[in-house]
Amino acid sequence: VRPTTFLKPDWLYWDGELRDDVALGVGPDGLVTGVQPAEEVPQAARLSGRALLPGMVNGHSHAFQRLIRGRTEYVSSGHPQDDFWSWRELMYQAACALDPEGVYVASRQAFLEMALSGITSVGEFHYLHHQPDGTPYDDREELAHQVIRAARDVGLRICLLRVGYARSGYQLPPNPRQRRFLDKTVDGLLGSVETLKGGYAADPFVTVGLAPHSVRAVPREWLEALRGRPERVHMHVAEQPAEVAACRSEYQRTPVQLIEEAGLLGENFTAVHAIHLDDVDVMRLGRARALVCACPSTERNLGDGVVPADALLNAGARVCLGSDSQATINLLDEARQLESHLRLMRLRRAVLDPGSGTPDGLAKRLFQMATVEGARSLGLSTGALKAGAPADYFTVDLNHPTLVGASRGTLLPTLVFGGGMAAIREVVVNGKSLVSEGHHLLLSRSREDFSELARRLFS
Ligand SMILES: [Zn+2]
Repeated sequence: VRPTTFLKPDWLYWDGELRDDVALGVGPDGLVTGVQPAEEVPQAARLSGRALLPGMVNGHSHAFQRLIRGRTEYVSSGHPQDDFWSWRELMYQAACALDPEGVYVASRQAFLEMALSGITSVGEFHYLHHQPDGTPYDDREELAHQVIRAARDVGLRICLLRVGYARSGYQLPPNPRQRRFLDKTVDGLLGSVETLKGGYAADPFVTVGLAPHSVRAVPREWLEALRGRPERVHMHVAEQPAEVAACRSEYQRTPVQLIEEAGLLGENFTAVHAIHLDDVDVMRLGRARALVCACPSTERNLGDGVVPADALLNAGARVCLGSDSQATINLLDEARQLESHLRLMRLRRAVLDPGSGTPDGLAKRLFQMATVEGARSLGLSTGALKAGAPADYFTVDLNHPTLVGASRGTLLPTLVFGGGMAAIREVVVNGKSLVSEGHHLLLSRSREDFSELARRLFS
């Protein structure tokens, strides 16, 4: 049996503080044993010039969308302007063209970039289920298996949020490009969830959640059928004004009201986006202690709007972060943009500062969204380093040009507001190294396969 190993970085983020006087213990099972005064463990491995922080948790991802990065940043012909709905057609084009191996290759590249950015767990909102014509694969969960395999090959924990998708939308004709997403019945969705849970029950790195896609794509009866389920429930909510307007036409209710009445709103529920809310919606989400997953890089990229995180937090809701469309993959940047967008809207600074009066109070809150709250949203026991929790962490190079000069009290705000991705040097999941000195073993293999896939799809 391997003994407990000890790590002594310059600074260790432990219990919400950067400590320079302790070493982190990691047991042979990959779990944190605790911290000890550094002088009591002279054998500790010295991580010189490094700070060590808990790994980040990406609450919302569509991995395959990494393929369309850089391919949609213009007004395409036939559209008076570019918006969410025209972007979506281009995204569907990629979604329709992928075979199972393509799903694996695209997902692996996205997950690899996540690992390099200090993400150690991902919630994958998975809606590609069937063959392009809508026929199920022989193994109905074929594409879910490919996404999970990609995450595990890279080394990430994954919560596969199995999406249910029933229809194009209220009073909308079927869209042939959505055939790969559809379940005929809500029992079909729940059957898939049970199959996946059973299949991965013995794998501690894989969990399964439920994801009714949106009030547009899932009718009220489906939502009601999901009431009381044990899984985490994630759902796109109020991303676009048109979605809210359609919900009002169909149900005379806002999406949040509909979800509350269906019995889904609670601590297990994550509303992804939650942008176009009225005051009562904010109150409902807060009262339920629900999570909101903000994805600011995608929301700005698509022109969705800004998550009113200040109002939501004041009302009692929790906020986590996601890379969503993979326009960029960097949860520190998501945290930075969430706060920055609110500054532009509210015309003041430090909008989300909880009022600690310390230079790092706001950065701690934002970092908590990227770690603890993401883990809460996915139901994972990671997100903070503490005794008994998995040793999921990353290190940063304190001598990196974007961090140099930071003190113990300003490192976290320096990292959150100005840190570059290249400052992230080691990434570890369950005590096992994925990224070392900024390098991952799959880097060149994944680059070659992904480049080839992109050439094939878009040439
Ligand atoms: Zn999404």
